[in-house]
Amino acid sequence: MPVNTFAVTNPATEEHLDDVRIFTPDEVTEAVVRAKDAQRTWAKLTLAARQSALYAMAEAVGEHVEELAQLESRDVGKPISSARAEAQSVAEVFRYYAGAIDKLSGDSIPLDGGMTITIHEPVGVVAVVTPWNFPLPIASWNVAPALAAGNSVVLKPASLTPLSSLRLGRIIEEVSPVPGLLQVVTGGGGTVGEALLNHPQVDKISFTGSTEVGRSVLNASAHDIKRVTLELGGKSANIVFADADISQAARSAPGAVFDNTGQDCCARSRILVQRDVLDEFLEEFIAATKALQVGDPADENTDLGPLVSSSHRDAVAKFLDDDGVEFIYQGDAPKGPGNWLAPHIGIDHTADSRCSREEIFGPIAVVIPFDTEDDAVRLANDTIYGLSGSIWTGDLGRAMRVARAVDSGTLAVNSNSSVRVQTPFGGFKQSGLGRELGMNGLRGYTELKSVFLSSE
Ligand code: NAP
Repeated sequence: MPVNTFAVTNPATEEHLDDVRIFTPDEVTEAVVRAKDAQRTWAKLTLAARQSALYAMAEAVGEHVEELAQLESRDVGKPISSARAEAQSVAEVFRYYAGAIDKLSGDSIPLDGGMTITIHEPVGVVAVVTPWNFPLPIASWNVAPALAAGNSVVLKPASLTPLSSLRLGRIIEEVSPVPGLLQVVTGGGGTVGEALLNHPQVDKISFTGSTEVGRSVLNASAHDIKRVTLELGGKSANIVFADADISQAARSAPGAVFDNTGQDCCARSRILVQRDVLDEFLEEFIAATKALQVGDPADENTDLGPLVSSSHRDAVAKFLDDDGVEFIYQGDAPKGPGNWLAPHIGIDHTADSRCSREEIFGPIAVVIPFDTEDDAVRLANDTIYGLSGSIWTGDLGRAMRVARAVDSGTLAVNSNSSVRVQTPFGGFKQSGLGRELGMNGLRGYTELKSVFLSSE
């Protein structure tokens, strides 16, 4: 029977990169059944065997960093320097979770007549669905802890950018002691994705993507009461107080919003600046943005590549028609071929424009002036999202007060930091459900069992 395929293109050149297979529903079932068998074998291996398998996976990824980075750069349009760092981070995530395998301890709870111990059991087969903006890192944040906790994984990458995940799947399969531990299925979200998530032998869903699709994933989980982790959209605030090092805040702001051409769930796309320092901040922010090099992702000096697709570029460009924003800066970008859009900076005095409220997922930053600390917190929280954000201040007390008051899963003080493998990552409100990374991320791939031990 002929295999159906879809085409994958390079967003910087519009060149055809590859044709990728569309899995049939029967093939999705085959992958899940194979994953079930693999999981039973994998979970019975000793801790030491599982640990050395994950270290071997880390090493194998490490040996393929350049290949994975080149693939990712061409498929996503990501600057090669970023793609290289991301591919390297995948090896680090596998290494971290290899080391965590024998540290997944439970509690002992003293009771009259005995005690209860708690044990973290694997969930079973995990379906991991990933978006197109960080295909490799996001796959690793889910695959590595899921395997470390004794599960198997069926991964469905985004159709725009499946190539690095397919390669990762083959790299892992080559060193895995159990065949079928990680399988990659490809095809549309509404067909292959839904077939996977609705499969009765899938025990947990880990979905990263838009809040809109996240809602339908939550619905899909309801029938079998599947375990679910959701990492969804964001509209994070970068809050700059007048008592901060304004120069440092302004020079780091372009990276916080324009990295990955703004296609970042953690993008600090609302920049709240205390009015007293607005002019000073804008001058340095614009100067630092001007210095960004937009162009060929293969060039080692490129900072920003194209947007992932022409339809996404057009959707982002529509935000430039927003009457509620006064655009004060527009950068340069190549004319084409490719899905290019230059970085833009606007000011919104009411904080009520479409650009200030919706996730843009492109290179558009909105600066919103504020007067008091209370105003800053109110504006930061005036969103359905709660994923990330930064607070720039020289006052430690203020940093602590504002960090406690902002409804967000991940915050940084005087920094743009969002994701570290050691620390939990995830969203408040409609930015998600559950946490990835760190030991919390590992526990998220387990069921907690209580066992009472009688002393009578
Ligand atoms: P998306 O449209 O929600 O798609 C994400 C994934 O879900 C893709 O693999 C997609 O497959 C699949 N999918 C779509 N419909 C589905 C369905 N009905 N059932 C099962 N799977 C389905 O998101 P995106 O456009 O790729 O990514 C951008 C979004 O992801 C942004 O909102 C961003 O904020 C969010 N994101 C969040 C995080 C985080 O950690 N919080 C990280 C990165 C990105 P197809 O590609 O085949 O349609």
